[in-house]
Amino acid sequence: MPTMPGVPCANRGCPNIVPGGGRCSKCKSLINKEYDYAKRDKKAAAFYQSKAWRVVRINHLGAEPFCRGCLSEGRGPIRATLVDHIKPWAGDYALALDPNNLQSLCDHCHAVKSMKERAGR
Ligand SMILES: [Zn+2]
Ligand SMILES: [Zn+2]
Repeated sequence: MPTMPGVPCANRGCPNIVPGGGRCSKCKSLINKEYDYAKRDKKAAAFYQSKAWRVVRINHLGAEPFCRGCLSEGRGPIRATLVDHIKPWAGDYALALDPNNLQSLCDHCHAVKSMKERAGR
């Protein structure tokens, strides 16, 4: 039986040959994953606009006005600029609003934390 003529994967730069054309299965699953992230980001953006989050956030900054990361590393009290989720809430609103899952951070500590999280993905 003759093999189907292969066409290079539609994803530019991908070396895979796809019988019949289109994207190879590897690129397809990669795109699906990116789509999932985008969908989650959209959900997250809506959450951060919500009134529930704004109230929780302001209350938390009132109760814990200083960056937890800087305090624990001995840099002294630095004013926190944002409220961070200790465990990524990943679409779980109960976890997102759980006061035990919140910590006040400064921009610096938050950037360091998200960098570490991305590296561990
Ligand atoms: Zn491909
Ligand atoms: Zn800090």
